[in-house]
Amino acid sequence: VIKLESVTKRFGSLTVLDELSFEVKPGEKLALIGPSGSGKTTILRMLMTLEHPSEGRITVDGDYLFHMKNGNGLVPASEKHLHEMRRKIGMVFQHFNLFPHKSVLQNITLAPILTQNVSKVDAEKRGMELLDMVGLADKADAMPSQLSGGQKQRVAIARACALRPKIMLFDEVTSALDPELVEEVLNVMRRLAAETDMTMLLVTHEMNFAKDFADRVLFFDSGHIIEDGPPAEIFTNPSHERTQSFLRKVL
Ligand code: ATP
Repeated sequence: VIKLESVTKRFGSLTVLDELSFEVKPGEKLALIGPSGSGKTTILRMLMTLEHPSEGRITVDGDYLFHMKNGNGLVPASEKHLHEMRRKIGMVFQHFNLFPHKSVLQNITLAPILTQNVSKVDAEKRGMELLDMVGLADKADAMPSQLSGGQKQRVAIARACALRPKIMLFDEVTSALDPELVEEVLNVMRRLAAETDMTMLLVTHEMNFAKDFADRVLFFDSGHIIEDGPPAEIFTNPSHERTQSFLRKVL
């Protein structure tokens, strides 16, 4: 459902991703791990079209993300094409970015009503189902400022699900939380993984979570993938010294 072909990303003279190629199958739960600065977040940002690749191509759900077919060739994507592609992907960030002046339920229903022509009644019905899934049905009328960090992040996850994306990206969603709030957010993600067939990509520093959430782990180092395999293999028997020393430090 996602394919990167020789994707290079440079910021000025810094090459963050170096001719990177990999594919993600529908429904896969993929954890991207590796040292700080290795380019993991940049991959998610490109999939959200927040960054353009410097070179190479990305396909999402069978269509090029930054290109469009034109006769037999490819041309840069139009804004309309980018807009259509963005609808396939949802993202949850480290900082929850809830709308502060909207209630919890409104935070979830706003985008479906405004961008997908969903009726208010249907959006609210779905919103309540999602709040139920994240264990916050009783907070529907609360304002974000009345919630804990963990609760805010659970609302952000429900909000991203409301647009029914095929692919969901999670970027260090627990790293701004107090330790005692991390587990409630991870539990919601476990539930989401178990109950939906969404493809999920997760950038995380929570190695134990990556281990039991993901069915595949990519280990990045200096813009390259140096390990690609099931968590049992990578966490217990990594093939590179670089991975071994990273895991020794973080596990
Ligand atoms: P972390 O785990 O710390 O989030 P990461 O693996 O996600 O790291 P990225 O956030 O993808 O790494 O960043 C990779 C490199 O690209 C870093 O050196 C970062 O400073 C640089 N970088 C990212 N965005 C920009 C930007 N907009 N302009 C310049 N440099 C950038």
